[in-house]
This record gives sequence, structure tokens and C-alpha cells, in this order.
Amino acid sequence: MANDIVILGDRIMTLLNRKIIVLSLIGVIFLMANLWFAVNWLDEHGVVSWAQHIRAEYITGTAITIVIALMILLVRPKHEAVARTGLFRRCPVCDHVLLGKGTYCAECGSKV
Ligand SMILES: [Zn+2]
Repeated sequence: MANDIVILGDRIMTLLNRKIIVLSLIGVIFLMANLWFAVNWLDEHGVVSWAQHIRAEYITGTAITIVIALMILLVRPKHEAVARTGLFRRCPVCDHVLLGKGTYCAECGSKV
């Protein structure tokens, strides 16, 4: 069944993936069409008031600020993305920062 595989870039889209995408799209459209009914259903079952309680108790401005600060501080800098620019590299042997386009490390002398 060679026609079941469509290649997008370097990803392989199988027939199963396409079925899942189409079914989820149908589900999203159906939900959007019945949005008012869905909101009323959630309100009747207490989900809306529960969510308001959670927001008021736990998701305060301070908590959001702390979470954002932790996300910024804990994410490692992307060495690969910076290294592709060619301006900032590191020696693969001693991890010394290399500036410029030289082919040898100034710290340990190994070829980069
Ligand atoms: Zn080195």
C-alpha cells in the first residue's frame, strides 16, 4: 500500500495519523458548533465554579510570576542553535569558548 504514506519534510505521515487528524478536526468543529451547550453542561456539573475556586486559591499573580521566572531560569541555553550561527562555538575536547572562525582551539590546541 504505497499510497498510504505521504512524506512531509522529514516526517512520515501514515494513514493512521491522517485518520486521527481528520477525526480530531471533526470533533473540534462539532464542539465549536455546540459551544454554548458545552459551557452550560460544564456549569451545571460544577466545573466552572471549581475552576474559579482553583484560580482564586492557587493561580495568583505571585504564583504565575514564580512559575515564569523558574521556566526562564531552568531552561538550558540551546548550544546547537547558537553554534549554527558560527559566531560562538565550544571546543569539543576541553569545552573552551571559541571566538571567531579559527580551526584550532586556543586552550588545548585540538582541531575544531
Ligand atoms: Zn580545546
